[in-house]
Amino acid sequence: MIERKQTRAIHVGNLQIGGGAHIVIQSMTNTKTKDVDATLKQINALANAGCELVRLAILDQEDADAVAKIKQLSPVPLVADIHFNPAFAISVIKNGIDKVRLNPGNLPLDSVPEIARLAKEHHVPIRIGINTGSLEKSLIAKYGGPCPEAMIESAKHHIDILTQCDFHDIALSFKSSDVSLCIDTYRLASQTFDYPLHLGVTEAGTMLGSSIKSSVALGTLLYDGIGDTIRVSVSADPVEEIKIAKQLLKCLNLKKDVVNLISCPTCGRIQYDMLPIVAQIEDFVNNIQEDITVAIMGCPVNGPQEAGRADIGIAGGKDVGLLFKKGEIIATVPQEEIVERLKQEILALVEQKHKV
Ligand code: SF4
Repeated sequence: MIERKQTRAIHVGNLQIGGGAHIVIQSMTNTKTKDVDATLKQINALANAGCELVRLAILDQEDADAVAKIKQLSPVPLVADIHFNPAFAISVIKNGIDKVRLNPGNLPLDSVPEIARLAKEHHVPIRIGINTGSLEKSLIAKYGGPCPEAMIESAKHHIDILTQCDFHDIALSFKSSDVSLCIDTYRLASQTFDYPLHLGVTEAGTMLGSSIKSSVALGTLLYDGIGDTIRVSVSADPVEEIKIAKQLLKCLNLKKDVVNLISCPTCGRIQYDMLPIVAQIEDFVNNIQEDITVAIMGCPVNGPQEAGRADIGIAGGKDVGLLFKKGEIIATVPQEEIVERLKQEILALVEQKHKV
């Protein structure tokens, strides 16, 4: 049982982050924010996949202006990612953004009080994002390179600027592409601050690389009870990030409404074409947000028993699949009908759960 570290709560639109709330899954669009249609399309795809909070890059005034329209039609709360230009922060807050990611130390200092005042008035929290790639040169010189202590000192500097403006609605992130540095820094951050922590490994790479790096870094931290919101970065369609994030949380019992797909590695006993079935069912269940277990097994020797706790599954016979529920075989299905039959059974199970 994971004991979550207590952090302050912040409110991002209708979402609570920290303060004992569930761990929020977030992602970031890779469209031009000013392209409102494309951005909304991606936000909707992310939301349908299970993303709860979406960040948008604000590169210019046109992007900042587009927030007003996007915000009206977005199904989930939005975060604006801003660097260096205070005018964009002021615009997005006035345009209804739910949260801003900016580092106040990188803005003209005389602009921060106005941003803090507006953010407070509009109940917009600010995430300070410390990143090894943009650590202050003075800290690199002082510590001889990026390290947890340098990252924490940088955060303190930015936090002080906001708290001096009596602004406390803060979240923090400490991103690095180095997994060990990530873990060590978040651990130190969790001991040092009680602000909610946004976890992520930055520039984590492709699906394979990111799944591994994120599972090691975020999995270790989450198992320690550290982390209030997560973003898994992948060099791919951001919807892929949500699949990894959901499975990561599911593995640690930090999220229930995700389908648990069990499949065997296959071996010489197999007598049907199982792997394409696994791929199609994985795609199918990715958009189903239910706490059910589906098993796809190679053979009836170990299949039903190995997946005895599955709600529904298939164990392969000779060119057929033996359909089973809770470990009991209930039908024999020809190879070419297995995918459709499994989909029907899964949907029936989901419907049944909704009726209860
Ligand atoms: Fe092999 Fe059957 Fe086990 Fe799959 S379930 S690994 S096919 S023995």
